Amino acid sequence: MPNQSQTEDEPTLDERPTKRPISPGGEQWLGRRIPVLDHGFVYLVDYMGSDEAIEQAARVSYGSGTRSVSATRGLIRYLWRHRHTTPFEMVELKFHAKMPIFVARQWVRHRTANINEYSGRYSILDKEFYIPEPEALATQSTGNKQGRQDVLSRDEAQIVRRMLLEDAERSYAHYEQLINDDGTGNPLEPDRSSLARELARMNLSLNFYTQWYWKIDLHNLFHFLALRQDAHAQYEIREYANAMARIIGDVTPLAWEAFQDYEVGALSLSRQERDVVAALWNRRGEGALAAQDVIDVAVACGLTSKREQDELFAKLRGLGIMPG
Ligand SMILES: Cc1cc2nc3c(=O)[nH]c(=O)nc-3n(C[C@H](O)[C@H](O)[C@H](O)COP(=O)(O)OP(=O)(O)OC[C@H]3O[C@@H](n4cnc5c(N)ncnc54)[C@H](O)[C@@H]3O)c2cc1C
Repeated sequence: MPNQSQTEDEPTLDERPTKRPISPGGEQWLGRRIPVLDHGFVYLVDYMGSDEAIEQAARVSYGSGTRSVSATRGLIRYLWRHRHTTPFEMVELKFHAKMPIFVARQWVRHRTANINEYSGRYSILDKEFYIPEPEALATQSTGNKQGRQDVLSRDEAQIVRRMLLEDAERSYAHYEQLINDDGTGNPLEPDRSSLARELARMNLSLNFYTQWYWKIDLHNLFHFLALRQDAHAQYEIREYANAMARIIGDVTPLAWEAFQDYEVGALSLSRQERDVVAALWNRRGEGALAAQDVIDVAVACGLTSKREQDELFAKLRGLGIMPG
């Protein structure tokens, strides 16, 4: 017997290829590879749950009496707004990703995922390394020690790319010599010893690619994306975060929307920043404020650090309170 919401054309539960709940948006991403950087990729291997799984879990904590309180969207938005985050952990996503080793080193810092990485002890590493596009090659930032600033000139970028290429080519050539393997387990030069793969790999540079399966729940994935899609994150890992974000937006569109509204698009103010905004509001009607006036108010509210002042000014400009 079809249930009440089912149309006659829809397959019954028993006729579907799976009895598991599915996310239509998630299904379309399964196995679909998104290229990232020059040789990397991300794709969704599997997922468990959808927006409905978040609601279902939340209903357990609220009990059946509140079933009609809100629709799925309203409930999910309520949950995220109030940091009731465990229902979001009911959704799991498993990705296969291939990235330069230096990206993997940043990525692996997110401890709440399960990882299984390609073994350089067991397998021969591919001759694949990341050479940034010219527009991704920039000078050291003067304002942020962890950032880059002006894009290199075309000529300088060409020199840098050539150096990176030569270094990677050379270290891979040595790696091949060290393992002395023709790729099928037979020595290239039978009269010579083959160094163990676990040792030979050590001369490869950080731009060589590695790959892994990475499984994480939605709560922690949002945390990852908040940090790694942010402008402060390195461009290369941002590209991977952006690729995963495209997928997530389709797997759990309602949770994604809540995350955008209450986290990504939200603005948090420290106690001092809030005092500055209140003080500026009280001075409305006194005419346009000069930058020095805002600095004076900030100092009076205890914001003496230049960096913190700059961060506040960026927020005030975003709100249109301070001219650009
Ligand atoms: C722009 C940027 C610059 C960075 N620079 C550096 C750097 O210079 N050097 C460096 O070493 N790292 C650096 N990091 C890495 C950073 O310090 C974190 O290790 C990384 O972002 C992972 O964050 P997390 O611990 O919140 O995430 P996860 O490990 O995914 O943890 C998620 C959350 O779980 C909780 N949690 C997890 N483990 C524990 C625990 N053991 N105890 C208590 N709570 C826990 C925390 O609430 C945490 O926020 C940088 C990160 C970013 C985004």
